[in-house]
Amino acid sequence: MPDRPYWNAEIETMAAADVRAMQAEKLRSHLGELVGRSPFYARKFAAAGFDPATIGSLEDLAAAPFTEKTELRESQVEAPPLGLHAGVELKDVIRVHSSSGTTGTPSYIGLTRRDRDRWIEIVSRAYWCEGSRPEDVLIHGFGLGFFVGGLPLKDGVENIGVTFVPIGTGASERLVTSVQALGGTILTCTPSYAIYLAEFIRERFGIEPAELGLKRIMTGGEPGGAVPAVRDRIADAYGATVTEAFGNADVLMVFAATCDTQDGNHLIAPDQLVSELIDPEDGETLPWEDGAEGELVVTHIERDCVPLVRFRTRDRVVVKTSPCACGRTGPRLTCVGRTDDMLIVAGVNVWPSAVSDVVSGLHPRLTGSLQIVLDRPPPSVDPPLRVKVEHGPDERDLDSLKAEVQRLLRDRLIVATDVELLAPGSLPRFEMKAQLLEHAYDE
Ligand SMILES: [Zn+2]
Repeated sequence: MPDRPYWNAEIETMAAADVRAMQAEKLRSHLGELVGRSPFYARKFAAAGFDPATIGSLEDLAAAPFTEKTELRESQVEAPPLGLHAGVELKDVIRVHSSSGTTGTPSYIGLTRRDRDRWIEIVSRAYWCEGSRPEDVLIHGFGLGFFVGGLPLKDGVENIGVTFVPIGTGASERLVTSVQALGGTILTCTPSYAIYLAEFIRERFGIEPAELGLKRIMTGGEPGGAVPAVRDRIADAYGATVTEAFGNADVLMVFAATCDTQDGNHLIAPDQLVSELIDPEDGETLPWEDGAEGELVVTHIERDCVPLVRFRTRDRVVVKTSPCACGRTGPRLTCVGRTDDMLIVAGVNVWPSAVSDVVSGLHPRLTGSLQIVLDRPPPSVDPPLRVKVEHGPDERDLDSLKAEVQRLLRDRLIVATDVELLAPGSLPRFEMKAQLLEHAYDE
């Protein structure tokens, strides 16, 4: 049987005009019934003078108020456990996940049976888009607990027919022996874990990661998988194709994924989400044009529990709208960082992921691990930007290496840096999300 190129051909290849018509229709009915079941949105819409009945086209959504992550936390404090924005009663919820928030307090995400099935459909599209097929054996290296990269991912890949092997994090030895024993073909994990694991395999097993025979590394959970130098390093180590998918725990576990063209992540859930691009400074809507850059804002048009309207993801993305060879019509996004992560050094915007790209490009002279040291709360940083990196084990001329790193960062990112070279293995390793910022002012 010939390989089917899409999980859901109708949605994934729908013409842009038809997508917009479908979305406008669903938006009007979804927001119309939302005010009846969400005191949170009834209140917000009234305060903003927004009436969902006035929605004629997608452009009219711009009149609706934004939803901030902090509002969701406050809503859950006001009406525990799921908040005034829950939209359904707890008896109708079949599972609760939590978002991994960087500020400590988790937010809870409930799913009804229909929501769970919606997630399964989208995860199936994403993992099919990335190349998972029923004959594959997928080794799962994300956390399996509360985290949305756990059970929802399992449900989706099992739905495709892929053999799912639940390893989770913190079990690197078992992960490697499972790849060997079960003939694993796909590893799915964070990019920082893939890099950590490559070192672990060489040290503990005395083999090259490529000898494991993995065909694909499917990354997610943090932006590294789309950073060219990071992606190439993982691809070289494992001799495998590296793809990425991304989503947002509060919204949908995954809603964008890399196809074989490997030119950004296609939006693959236009029947469940409306995506907007805004200027994070003034909140103005930006047009979906090739090369446009802004913050991704999303609105559910199918969701029972914790439905969100114009939710600010804080993900800063660059958009590609040119046709893709794979035939999918969804615009392609590359996540370039979190808007909250952006640093401003002498007026220049600097993304920690961009620093990581430069540092990774110097492998093996540098190990790739780094920390940006902040002496005061971001985003403003007094130059020079302090960056700690590790030199490679065979590096002897540290003075010239330091000068080289500083020169590259200055040339590529237009930022003056003070680079500190450390011995390999001195910086903390992260199995889950790499923490690139060291908040020295906390100490
Ligand atoms: Zn494509």
